[in-house]
Amino acid sequence: MLLLETEYARLAFTCCPIYAFTSMLLVTVADESTLRRVAAAAAGKAYAPYSRFYVGAALLLDTGEIVTGCNVENASYRLTTCAEQTAVARAVAEHGPATRIRAVAVANADASVACQPCGACRQTIAEFADASCRIYYPGDGGKPGECSLGDLLPAGFQGDSLR
Ligand SMILES: [Zn+2]
Repeated sequence: MLLLETEYARLAFTCCPIYAFTSMLLVTVADESTLRRVAAAAAGKAYAPYSRFYVGAALLLDTGEIVTGCNVENASYRLTTCAEQTAVARAVAEHGPATRIRAVAVANADASVACQPCGACRQTIAEFADASCRIYYPGDGGKPGECSLGDLLPAGFQGDSLR
């Protein structure tokens, strides 16, 4: 029986409390819990005096390292940088161009507010992640949500198109 990726992950959670399997990579429940917690802490560092929408992001790299980011607003609104973009830029700056992302957690300082990566961030993450990359976020009412990057960006622009 062919299972969709999200169904497979859900089934893995049901059958095995320790691991959630993706198509290629492994993200443990402990990883998810840590990522969500670290992303929430990163939201506390956000610079968002205009929107007061304080967001944090935590990336789990293939190396097992975690890199965080937060949104950084600007008085010229369009120069604002999202938490996920800040984290990706930081990951590349710290770990180099071979950086690969296994999972991403996003958090809002107000835990009751839903907060998924915006379209630009989905594309930014996709530059360094496979479609199976896990995305953890606060859903409606702050209820923990989870999906794959492929779920969020099913037809993202691929760098292969430029070669
Ligand atoms: Zn964004």
